[in-house]
Amino acid sequence: MRVLKGLNALGYSGINDILDQGVRNVRQVGRVIAQKLNKLGINTIGDLVTYYPRDYEDRNLEKKVNELVDGDECSVVLTVMTDISFSRPRRNMKIYKATAGDGSGVVVLTWFNQDYVREQIQKEKSYVFYGKVKKRGFYIEMINPIYEDAASVRKKTTGIQPVYHLTEGLTQQYLRMIQRNALDMVVGKLTDILPDELKKKYALAEINYALENIHFPAGIKEKDEARKRLVFEELLILQLGLLHLKNSQRTVSGIEFNPDARISKFIESLPFKLTNAQIRVINEIHEDMTSKRQMNRLIQGDVGSGKTIVAVIAMLLAVFNGYQAVFMVPTEILAEQHFNGITPLVRDFGVKTSLLTGSVSKKKKEQIKEGIKNGEYDLIIGTHALLEEDVVFSKLGLVVTDEQHRFGVKQRAVLTTKSNPDILVMTATPIPRTLALILYGDLDISIIDELPPNRKPVKTYVVDESMRERINNFIRKQVNEGRQVYIICPLVEESDVVEAEAAMSLAEKLRENDLKGLTVGLIHGKMKWKEKEAVMRDFAKGLIQVLVSTTVVEVGVDVRNATVIVIENAERFGLAQLHQLRGRVGRGEHQSYCILFCQSRNEIALKRMEIMTKYTDGFKISEKDMELRGPGDIFGIRQHGLPEFRIANLYEDIEILKEAQKAADDIIKHQKLEGREDYKKLHGHLISLFRDKLNEVAFN
Ligand code: ADP
Ligand code: MG
Repeated sequence: MRVLKGLNALGYSGINDILDQGVRNVRQVGRVIAQKLNKLGINTIGDLVTYYPRDYEDRNLEKKVNELVDGDECSVVLTVMTDISFSRPRRNMKIYKATAGDGSGVVVLTWFNQDYVREQIQKEKSYVFYGKVKKRGFYIEMINPIYEDAASVRKKTTGIQPVYHLTEGLTQQYLRMIQRNALDMVVGKLTDILPDELKKKYALAEINYALENIHFPAGIKEKDEARKRLVFEELLILQLGLLHLKNSQRTVSGIEFNPDARISKFIESLPFKLTNAQIRVINEIHEDMTSKRQMNRLIQGDVGSGKTIVAVIAMLLAVFNGYQAVFMVPTEILAEQHFNGITPLVRDFGVKTSLLTGSVSKKKKEQIKEGIKNGEYDLIIGTHALLEEDVVFSKLGLVVTDEQHRFGVKQRAVLTTKSNPDILVMTATPIPRTLALILYGDLDISIIDELPPNRKPVKTYVVDESMRERINNFIRKQVNEGRQVYIICPLVEESDVVEAEAAMSLAEKLRENDLKGLTVGLIHGKMKWKEKEAVMRDFAKGLIQVLVSTTVVEVGVDVRNATVIVIENAERFGLAQLHQLRGRVGRGEHQSYCILFCQSRNEIALKRMEIMTKYTDGFKISEKDMELRGPGDIFGIRQHGLPEFRIANLYEDIEILKEAQKAADDIIKHQKLEGREDYKKLHGHLISLFRDKLNEVAFN
């Protein structure tokens, strides 16, 4: 979805062709500067004026010396107490220093290679100095402060100055100057694409005002108004674009599957009754699949809500229609588990399944691929090995990807470009609606919001080291009753190797001491697939009583006899991930427990742990976590490939996002783009953006 990047350009090209002119047309931009600007992605005047500041210097902020704190950037009025001293420690380094004070304290002023200082700064005169403060004990220094006469009208040491990302050879001051020049060409001439109706309703500034004040704000309030307007516009356009995309996908033709009576037979053959939520979602899928258009649907359902069987039913419909269906999952363990679970369910219906993962031997792989190619296999389960280019399907009708957050959108695309099958994506990651609209804006969403009956909620406890002994006893007790236990090792960021080592030493410690006498198995990311598989199989068979694991078990694995999951350093995990982990237990008829070891006394950490004890609903949990920490950290959203924004920031701008989404929904619902005169400019802008982008947007 990175392509959406281009959407954020000010929506005025074509309306105001000044914006399309090259930057060389701006005063004081010559060939060399233009090249430097190009490096920053700035080619046109439009690019330049939408190159927004990354920060601001508030030179209106004035302090006394005794109020200065290390790191401050502010103005100070000082009287110079000494002559300027000069030293030259190296050939190309000249240092000028003076001491100055304001009665409350003394500051050392230091300039590097600024010869004119010697002429300009005079002893016993007063100046306003603006710059960054370095404070070590009682020693206070300002390096390269800018300054002006305290008695004259302030020009340099006043106002709020923009701070831009720079590139080599381009100074902050120079960029400010040419930005000023560019704005002088543009501000006052822009026609606003946002209609008054929206501006009024959402209290948005007018575009010329916004552009001026995002760069050179009169004050903080003005800057905030400008920013809100520009963020809103950016998010509105993104949202409208996604809705547009979704609508246009509705017309992409797909396979028109026929309803099949065997589906009801299959549902009757299941050992349980489907929940109402499952039935509703199956109906939604059925409607998509039997229609002429291509299905692009996301199923969100909490851990244990029974997504798998829903997928199986969808795949059966494809297979009964003479097509192949693919079930793609993120780990080999999971692929095998699904293969073993699904094969016996569908065998009696004449459906032939196969399993294709990376670790299948080369010879076997060839044979499986051959079978896929010649149509011998109907339902193919596998990992990303399925994405290898030489997997050729004889007649692919449906692609299901499970636990989507492990796959990139791109990977989803690879399979689909192989033909034009229907697409079903399943995720247990409880993404709040606001974000889902952006992350999965191109998909229709179905939600399984009901768990199968008779599930006992997992009892969750937050404990610290002082409880270690009691927890160990509890584990022994559960094992004595025939149950099994997961112990999840601390998350070691950025290193599989360190994580693996930590897991090994923990398993060792448990075997030797804490849980001596119990069979303790170990599974971690550095093990070969065959080894993992063997351990997992032993655990599933009950041969291993306690399984020490890194988060490789996070996703999907189903061992019903496991009733306890202990998570070490729980505070290091995202709550969504803890919720996933907790979902490994509570899958059978026994009461299950989740023990969170929390080593932190940090208030937010404790609050987050408390959320885990209070809520069992993944959506609720993620919502609460988002309130506490902002959306970013929670799902590793960056991996999802959110669009790059020019000004919006989803960590801070959730409220504006909600408003923009509301506005976009309303615009689409009432067909304002097509029908309303005052929305014409916005419409024109969207069309010009999407004309070229439509095809790329979906899967990049
Ligand atoms: P998830 O949504 O986490 O992938 P699964 O599909 O693995 O959940 O289902 C969890 C367990 O619940 C499985 O053992 C499955 O057989 C069982 N299950 C699914 N649907 C129902 C139902 N309607 N009633 C009872 N058990 C069900
Ligand atoms: Mg699952």
